[in-house]
Amino acid sequence: MNALPLPLEHNLQPDLQPALDAWNACLHLIQEHVSSLSFKTWFQPITPTKLDGASLTVRVPSQFFYDWLEEHYNPLLQSTLVTVLGHEAKLFYVVEAEDSSTIALQTSLFDQDSAKPTAQKEFAPHVSLRSELLPAVQHNLNPRYTFENFIKGDCNQLARAAALAVANNPGGTSFNPLVIYAGTGLGKTHLMHALGNHALASGKAKRAAYVSSEKFTIDFVDAIQSDTVNDFSQYYRSMDLLVVDDIQFFSGKEKTQDNFFHTFNTLYQAGKQIVLSSDVPPKELKGLDERLISRFQCGLTADIQPPDLETRIAILQKKSEDNNLELSPHITDFIAANVTTNIRELEGCLISLLARASLENREINLDLAKDVLRVVVSEVRTPLTIEKIQHSVCEHFNIPEDLLRAKTRKQEIVEARQAAMYLAKELTSSSLKTIGLHFGGRDHSTVIHAYQTIEDRMRIDSSFKQQIVQLRRLLESLK
Ligand code: ADP
Ligand code: MG
Repeated sequence: MNALPLPLEHNLQPDLQPALDAWNACLHLIQEHVSSLSFKTWFQPITPTKLDGASLTVRVPSQFFYDWLEEHYNPLLQSTLVTVLGHEAKLFYVVEAEDSSTIALQTSLFDQDSAKPTAQKEFAPHVSLRSELLPAVQHNLNPRYTFENFIKGDCNQLARAAALAVANNPGGTSFNPLVIYAGTGLGKTHLMHALGNHALASGKAKRAAYVSSEKFTIDFVDAIQSDTVNDFSQYYRSMDLLVVDDIQFFSGKEKTQDNFFHTFNTLYQAGKQIVLSSDVPPKELKGLDERLISRFQCGLTADIQPPDLETRIAILQKKSEDNNLELSPHITDFIAANVTTNIRELEGCLISLLARASLENREINLDLAKDVLRVVVSEVRTPLTIEKIQHSVCEHFNIPEDLLRAKTRKQEIVEARQAAMYLAKELTSSSLKTIGLHFGGRDHSTVIHAYQTIEDRMRIDSSFKQQIVQLRRLLESLK
């Protein structure tokens, strides 16, 4: 009569039979203590390779797999091994490393201090099981969002630079986690996709995924209902780069937060990169567990501010180019002056402009732009430019305009020039550099000096202050 088949058929050499027998005995015991899904996921992929006295060596497919076993099943493995092999039992792991070299890890079953694995390179034949066993990644990254089409401005400089640094070296900078916060429509999602796309394309991250916190929450609830929380967790914890958008929606969802907390820790401890976005700075997040908030703060938090006028113009120019649309500077200035808080709205205006022009068969001109904007903003304004400010100031002080740009240091010219610089700084969103350029290419420090001089003088000279306030009112009425 044939012997009963072993529960697992391994094509191993005969001297590996004792290891196989010992491991099969362990599997019988383990099976009674874990769900069938966990058994399939975490124990069936383990291959016994050697039994030396009471020391059993097994092969696991990845470092992640090993970490998971250590974190979740160590007590179960300990008691099982002791039952099967006695109190001298030791378990050695052989891990298929990512770079295809094989490293071996030892876990002493009794000594907690030595639970940290030590590399023992002499072990193990090389079999790469990693890619088969890790779940396939659906990265959900939108290829439309790149660094190339993300316009740089003072408003997003830090966030963009940090995102680029992280994309070039995920997990390898101190920006972990990278948290980007900003109001709506200011480019958080765009920047995060750009980061993920870049890291994947350059091969710096092999496993990268973008997920909104809402999707994470929905999938987690589904996983609970279908008893697949382990698979769910394993999926996210196997990433090299995990990008989670709009974490404010985790608010009040305690179980999801708890799962995310462990995901965060697993990734963080393994040196993997986490990137998060939120509509407020982490410490202002309401309804989020304190331990999560403090984790979020251990990397870099970078904000994106509403775009200044120049960035808005640059964005409009870029987006119209992308749409093969040639907009005159009049029109871009006009839209940029009116749509001030949100880049999504800025894009919306451009799209409406295109749609109206083609549907109504109209030429794209300032009138059409005004029509479009009337729908979007309550009060349409024409942009207040530095030129207009210069013009009004010169009229007021009764001096020729070109002297503002000339080198002359005559007292009344200097005064008018400084007043115009002050008002340009107060009433437009132009940078100091741009303001300086409009005044005969002067340096930004000259603009700062002018601004301070005017402020100081207004404090001590009430009739001068009166003039500036009047000018300001006049200019604001022109907007
Ligand atoms: P948020 O996630 O902050 O609400 P999004 O990333 O969705 O904002 O941005 C809204 C729209 O504005 C997107 O179409 C995006 O491409 C565009 N956008 C935002 N910032 C920039 C930028 N700096 N350059 C180019 N487009 C931008
Ligand atoms: Mg977004």
